Amino acid sequence: MPDIDLQLIRNIPDFPKTGVQFKDITPLLADPKNFEQTIKAFLNKSASSKYIAGIEARGFIFAAAVAQAGSKGFIPLRKSGKLPGPVEQQSYQLEYGEAMLEIHKGIYPINSSVTIVDDVLATGGTAIAAIKLCQKIKLHVDSVVFLMEIPGLGGRSQINQHFPDLQISVLVAE
Ligand code: AMP
Repeated sequence: MPDIDLQLIRNIPDFPKTGVQFKDITPLLADPKNFEQTIKAFLNKSASSKYIAGIEARGFIFAAAVAQAGSKGFIPLRKSGKLPGPVEQQSYQLEYGEAMLEIHKGIYPINSSVTIVDDVLATGGTAIAAIKLCQKIKLHVDSVVFLMEIPGLGGRSQINQHFPDLQISVLVAE
């Protein structure tokens, strides 16, 4: 386990709505030593990839820093309507309604290897959409790496069912 102080990830009950325990990473980001340890731990799990893809928005914070630290390229996986295009799209289910992630086409060479980074693994829906999106533009997804997971929601097994050969890493356990 990397040397990351779990106390710096705050549990905020009932945010953004009743029943959700929100994992607030802002204290971790404010602590230089722990932020650095976190980036090192992400990099350790993504060393073989040419690109680091971050999922908007909190995934960007880690993915861009990991890419920089590892001399890799950064790929933003953005919410719908933010990239000027041309884009590939992947929709996914939220608890209420649907959401969409987008990636630019024509920038990243076919078959390039990529690690996808995000802060929290919950149901796995966002990560599965991110993987499908990268695959749609013919990137090779090496692994997905999360700072933490909420184990009761089954995200890891969902990703496993869709992509049995994909490496899934979680940096800290509660
Ligand atoms: P899911 O698609 O259900 O795995 O949700 C993962 C996405 O939603 C990630 O991008 C997280 O940033 C965010 N997320 C889900 N649940 C939480 C939570 N309890 N605390 C913080 N972020 C969360």
